[in-house]
Amino acid sequence: MNPFPCDFSSDTQTRPSQAMREAMARAEVGDEQKREDPTVNRLQEMVADLTGKQAALFLPTGTMCNLIAHAIHCRPGDEIIAEASTHPVHFEGGGPAVHSRASLRLIDTATGIFTAAQVEAAIRPDDPHFPKTRLVCVENTHNLKGGRVWPLDAVRDVAACARKHGLLLHLDGARLLNAVVASGVAASAYCEPFDSCWIDLSKGLGCPVGAVLAGNREFIAQAWRYKHLFGGAMRQAGIIAAAGVYALEHNVERLAEDHAKAKALAHGLAEIKGIAVDLDAVETNIVVFDIAGTCVPRAEFLQRLAKQGVRFSGLMKPTQLRAVTHLDIQPDGVDRALAAVRALFE
Ligand SMILES: *Cc1c(COP(=O)(O)O)cnc(C)c1O
Repeated sequence: MNPFPCDFSSDTQTRPSQAMREAMARAEVGDEQKREDPTVNRLQEMVADLTGKQAALFLPTGTMCNLIAHAIHCRPGDEIIAEASTHPVHFEGGGPAVHSRASLRLIDTATGIFTAAQVEAAIRPDDPHFPKTRLVCVENTHNLKGGRVWPLDAVRDVAACARKHGLLLHLDGARLLNAVVASGVAASAYCEPFDSCWIDLSKGLGCPVGAVLAGNREFIAQAWRYKHLFGGAMRQAGIIAAAGVYALEHNVERLAEDHAKAKALAHGLAEIKGIAVDLDAVETNIVVFDIAGTCVPRAEFLQRLAKQGVRFSGLMKPTQLRAVTHLDIQPDGVDRALAAVRALFE
């Protein structure tokens, strides 16, 4: 049991449900490295189908999906075009520099969504002074910008520009299924322009561990090499892959409930004096809000709420907070959280 009954700090805070644990306990297993684990194989086929790619590979984390994709696509000295607050910039220990010896060329945006013109402007001239532009990365939904959904046309414009310049394309789809449920666009349509894409199982889908990387057969054959190289090749991994199979069968459509809870939370927070929320920005399961107007320091705000069993997380800006809804937020969780916040100011 989570000691915080209203834990909005992240959708990684979900615990595997009883039904998911039972599916894990029943899983048929084998040696994943010999391609003999039927449950891992099944999960990989499901994600290949879902994303419309030829093949897929089960990995321990989403971070490893990003690192492996960068390593396959880039040579040392190459440059990756990405949004300025994308996950690898802040939360992967400098992975692109360490594992691929690639540099990042970052595009600043308000929403996490950039344009073809911005990509065009970030591409380096063919001149030995410069790094070689190699890869364009998209994050959908965009985590630090509050779960924003890329419109399909925006993805297609960026992809067309990248292709025109001979660049490769990678999709960080940690929360792609949130984008799919919110927009009604099929996962395969979102993934179609990309050479590689992945989904996380341990966020809103509620699994204890795992992510799945997808691409064409040749890409996934190379990804197997890096899975071994990075120490991510497992054995009877069907035990954890079974959670992924269960989640894809049971926990996708219900993401709509998380999105509704995020909207309700955002509306409630917006009514509290001193709290600023951009309601139009709440498209999926993340609410970004600013408490500058309350004059309560963030650390104190968080500490006092924690005593009520309510947890949010801090963002980069010192007065900004993030609330994430997920399948362990109880039906009355939003009301309880709002009551706790209101009580701080009474
Ligand atoms: C969580 C996250 C990752 C990393 O996934 P892990 O499974 O935690 O390693 C990468 N990108 C985005 C956008 C994320 O939210």
